[in-house]
Amino acid sequence: MITVENLTKSFRGQTGPVVALDDVTLDVRAGTIAGVVGPSGSGKSTLARLIALQERPDSGVIRLDGQNLAGLDPRRLRAARSRIGVLSPGESLLRQRTAAGNIALPLEQAGLDGPERRTKVGRLLDLIGLTELAATYPDELTPGQRRRVAVARALVGEPDVLLADDPTGALDPDGAAGVLTVLDRARAELGATVLVATADPHVVRRIADDVAVLEHGRLLERGGLLELLHDPESRVARTILPAIDESAPRHGHDRVADVVLIGFAAVGALLPEASGRFGVDVAVLGGGLTRLGETPVARFRVGVSGERADTAIGWIGDRGGLVHAVPTGPRGVAA
Ligand code: ADP
Repeated sequence: MITVENLTKSFRGQTGPVVALDDVTLDVRAGTIAGVVGPSGSGKSTLARLIALQERPDSGVIRLDGQNLAGLDPRRLRAARSRIGVLSPGESLLRQRTAAGNIALPLEQAGLDGPERRTKVGRLLDLIGLTELAATYPDELTPGQRRRVAVARALVGEPDVLLADDPTGALDPDGAAGVLTVLDRARAELGATVLVATADPHVVRRIADDVAVLEHGRLLERGGLLELLHDPESRVARTILPAIDESAPRHGHDRVADVVLIGFAAVGALLPEASGRFGVDVAVLGGGLTRLGETPVARFRVGVSGERADTAIGWIGDRGGLVHAVPTGPRGVAA
């Protein structure tokens, strides 16, 4: 478990101090994947570097399983560092070493030799799905494969925590998907706690359990991804859920509502069942379907017509759909 309390960090900028992190408090539960999201310059990398002990905060506390990482003596600091694996943006592999050789490098540096080293490297090649390409040099790998090797190298010391700063940056969708699968496996199969800094909502959708939103160094929102979807004001919900085209016509229905449905059963059945049960017509006016990890999630704008439209909408809400009424006509026009 990583705990960050009131973390503040500023840098000297050209026209004065730049506050990169401003009183940020959050925690990352052990064995979960937490996404730290926000636009470029919001402080994500700074947060990752502080937790990685690569830089010191101006104030605030970082704890790893309750242990305050500030003020450790050099021996304890080394021990704490070895519990944290880091994937930094732009980090490159050694061109003259094979994929396996790159993964083995930290073990060689630590003086680990022989069968134990081979076993660890072999296990990680399997985890990243590149066993067949163990003897391949970086120049012959795709960018996505190279990034997977870099993840394996960050994991080779069996850290409890993996900090992945912009792990999918500059990769094509296939390459990015491969890297995200590896991060997910690191959590599931190695039990690693993973913190991912990213500006890409797709990364959060695909692998995050929890999410924290930064803007100008401030924490705007944090929580479990599925929980945040229940909050209509949530920025995460607005970014993650399928968009609704507000300009699309919505007149001609008795009621219009935005409905968020979570899970196979809700997404597949709730709307048609409401329609059949209450004899109402349910038309999908906008929105769409996405997936959070393995969970299908939909946000639809629906137009409901029929005598029992209100009852049907109430029933969808009772069955776990998140329903927000929408005016039936455009603003200023009578419905
Ligand atoms: P992000 O990762 O979200 O893009 P960063 O943590 O890299 O954000 O940067 C946050 C702010 O701190 C930005 O304004 C950036 O310019 C500034 N900053 C980050 N690192 C340094 C540094 N080493 N020196 C000066 N300013 C920095």
